[in-house]
Amino acid sequence: MTDTFRALLLTQDDDRNTHADFADVTIDDLPEGEVLVKVAYSSLNYKDGLAVTGSSPVVRSFPMVPGIDFAGTVEAFTSDDFSVGDSVVLTGWGVGEKHWGGYAEYARVPAEYLVPLPDGLSAEDAMAVGTAGFTAMLAIMALEDAGVSPDAGEIVVTGAAGGTGSMAVAMLAAMGYKVVASTGRGDSLSDYLTSLGASEIIGRFDAPSRPLAKTRWAGAVDSVGGDTLAAILPEVNYGGSVACFGLAGGSDLQTTVFPFILRGVSLLGVDSVMCPTPRRIAAWERIRDVMTDELFSAIKQVEPLSNVTELAPAILKGDVRGRVVFDVSK
Ligand code: NDP
Repeated sequence: MTDTFRALLLTQDDDRNTHADFADVTIDDLPEGEVLVKVAYSSLNYKDGLAVTGSSPVVRSFPMVPGIDFAGTVEAFTSDDFSVGDSVVLTGWGVGEKHWGGYAEYARVPAEYLVPLPDGLSAEDAMAVGTAGFTAMLAIMALEDAGVSPDAGEIVVTGAAGGTGSMAVAMLAAMGYKVVASTGRGDSLSDYLTSLGASEIIGRFDAPSRPLAKTRWAGAVDSVGGDTLAAILPEVNYGGSVACFGLAGGSDLQTTVFPFILRGVSLLGVDSVMCPTPRRIAAWERIRDVMTDELFSAIKQVEPLSNVTELAPAILKGDVRGRVVFDVSK
């Protein structure tokens, strides 16, 4: 084990401007926790973009190592749950926001934050999934729990070319659903979305003009929120459901109760950060079962962590396609 290792450190100056710089830190600098993990890969999520650029107050204390997810191997532990060399994955729990995260070669975390990496899933592919893909699977499981099945009809995925959207399109299609991808980048990325399994590409949604519209969707996976979510609800079939977890397009929701009280539509909230461990394990096993090497190759882009400060603003602008995986050793 090295004495010092590289980490991306976020600091804040007196004017509350955030600065992101690589620094050498020591194991003793890491926060308390039962498990020391040698991090192999982390990833770029929307929230990481907010943290690294300082454009939204997601980081609760400074200095902070961002990176809301990571995969690696257990290096040392004081917990019976893990052994040295175990492959593990972490998403959520406020890591990268209030507990040092994955943009470093080592992380130390409470044992309950970690999930064993399912057999057959590499650390690199686990971070191609990352928080985004894990959340997409939680959304699919929420739709299933509400009774949505592949024979129910079309599922629309919003923000389809982004991280959560790409993973939702790929996994729903692999599970036999007919997936319609809603994207603002159909001109350039329709081949990409088709390669993930989308059966149709449509544009973004405009704000709704009526409380109820012609129905089309058996279900929806929505990462955009705002007017997009408001526009989908009036188009959901009788008894259909919408799984909502994102605000890439806005956090306000201007809608009416009519889809809910006249069509029995359900709006399902999905949170990945505090998701209980048994559901985490179930979701990771489902992900391992549906994702293929071809899908991973189409979705992931492996980058050295040193490129993070260029890529963080890009994800906030909606310019990132699919999933960026960071090799933290580079
Ligand atoms: P990405 O930036 O990778 O994807 C978001 C996509 O949304 C973009 O690629 C773009 O897709 C679309 N989009 C962006 N801006 C707009 C806009 N103004 N109007 C309509 N569409 C827009 O982010 P992620 O997929 O990582 O995350 C998506 C959202 O989900 C974020 O808000 C994030 O915070 C949230 N999230 C929530 C979680 C939870 O636990 N609740 C967990 C993970 C993510 P396109 O170009 O195809 O139109």
